Amino acid sequence: MDWNTLAELLVPDKDVKDLEYYEKAYPERVLEKGAEVTRLAPSPTGFMHIGNLYVALANERIAHQSGGVFYLRIEDTDEKRKVEGAVEVIHKSLRYFGVKFDEGADLGGEYGPYYQRQRAEVYHAYAKELIRKGLAYPCFCSEEDLESTRNYQTENKLLPGYYGEFAKCRNLTEEEIIANVKAGKPYVIRLRSQGDVEAKHVFHDEVKGDITVTENNQDVVILKSDGIPTYHFAHAIDDHFMRTTLVIRGEEWLSSLPIHIELFKVLGFRLPKYGHNCSIQKQDGETRRKLSKRKDPEASLNFYREQGYHPEAVRTYMLTLLNSNFEEWLLKCPDKPLDEFKYSIAKMGKSGALFDIVKLNDISKTYMATLDEKQTFTFLKSWADEFGTDEQKLYFADETYYCKALALCMGVGGKKRRKDFIYAKQAVESTAYFFDCTFAPTYEYRFDNGTVKNVLQGFADIYDENDDNSAWFDKVKAVAGNNGFATDMKAYKQNPENYPGSVADVAEMLRIATTGLANTPDLWTIMQILGKEKTLARLRQAIAVL
Ligand code: GLU
Repeated sequence: MDWNTLAELLVPDKDVKDLEYYEKAYPERVLEKGAEVTRLAPSPTGFMHIGNLYVALANERIAHQSGGVFYLRIEDTDEKRKVEGAVEVIHKSLRYFGVKFDEGADLGGEYGPYYQRQRAEVYHAYAKELIRKGLAYPCFCSEEDLESTRNYQTENKLLPGYYGEFAKCRNLTEEEIIANVKAGKPYVIRLRSQGDVEAKHVFHDEVKGDITVTENNQDVVILKSDGIPTYHFAHAIDDHFMRTTLVIRGEEWLSSLPIHIELFKVLGFRLPKYGHNCSIQKQDGETRRKLSKRKDPEASLNFYREQGYHPEAVRTYMLTLLNSNFEEWLLKCPDKPLDEFKYSIAKMGKSGALFDIVKLNDISKTYMATLDEKQTFTFLKSWADEFGTDEQKLYFADETYYCKALALCMGVGGKKRRKDFIYAKQAVESTAYFFDCTFAPTYEYRFDNGTVKNVLQGFADIYDENDDNSAWFDKVKAVAGNNGFATDMKAYKQNPENYPGSVADVAEMLRIATTGLANTPDLWTIMQILGKEKTLARLRQAIAVL
């Protein structure tokens, strides 16, 4: 059979060049010894899973710590999964968490293009080469043919797939192939596997250690009927020509490893090192399962940005999941930049990492409490600018005013720093009552309208913004007394039946009128921040609706 002629017929791409051309165009990278070239190779689906960050961070750390290169390749061979703007989402969400690429899609670089759809030529060149060598062949099987093979294999409990006796097109003659092509029958190009499924080898996985890998015997598709490569084929070619030295990827790819080993071999390429990262799991009742895009909002990277988790907190938590000695390091060096931690592939977990949002929240709370006034303001503002409501965006117009609110609500800059703020959204929402645009009281008082009105009016009549905390409280007491409420808590507790309530209830009425809430930080300070005019306006507003 003349495979040379068949190669031209089967992969009619005029642009392909000699193989040496590609070797020269994408030469070995000149890097220090030990430097690793790693990559993230997502499909542009528009959805970024927390697992993407997990893998990205591992690859980024290893590349940058070793003086290597970390790049972004877009695996867009599956047109159906492609979403407009997805690459921007990838950059944006990873950048937020401090993961930056050195080269790749939308950044450029010497080893591009970094979109697989733009690399057809090199895939075609190598598909042709494999056909010429008799290592690949066209397959004209229809979906129905493949389905009936599958059914037969299932019924007879046979290994599924296209191999051996089931590889119907493996031995078509030249005439049959030419006749099929001339008849316009669609075809794919398959690898003519040389593997033996009985043969097992020890393979060193950088994360999992020595594992046993069975040889591939599947005649996998390498080019689809439209000439687009499959992920497997593109992976081998791209990682060779982008000169990747180490592939850290999710363990869901472990089952494809035999295919990749064979592809690198038949293509004549050196196999990169592989490390298969355990997937992120979640405790769901009694069982552990993978974090699911459909069921778990926290599976999406967007979730953390929308809530306003501080990137540093998320990064810290990811590192605790990724490297077993990270927490110990953090305890010893709490003030050092995270990048100083010596990331080690050997300390990556070999089995499932359990994602614990409670722990992430604890880390976030502690981290938020370390931010000073300026940092808090800047962080909350940047969150609000992107994810806040129109009203929330306005909060940040007057920095001095907002910082006063933050000092009170979060204890920023003070001795009593509160450690219960997990993310920006929660912090910003806690300041809502300082702004008329979001001050929306429902006035749920526990006393009759007449009493509340008298209390509010009584206080409004004597309020003086120049009073210090204790003079202010004396006035609250005075109003309480004037309305028959106990001013002395001890006396009240002894004989509560003698009073409609105590000074605490009076303070609550003032609090609800001023803030709309029954529980807030110190009310005197709130009134100080709001200022006389606003305080009195709110008291009057409350009186008016009663
Ligand atoms: N495109 C694959 C994915 O979406 C990449 C797998 C790999 O890193 O080799 O996960």
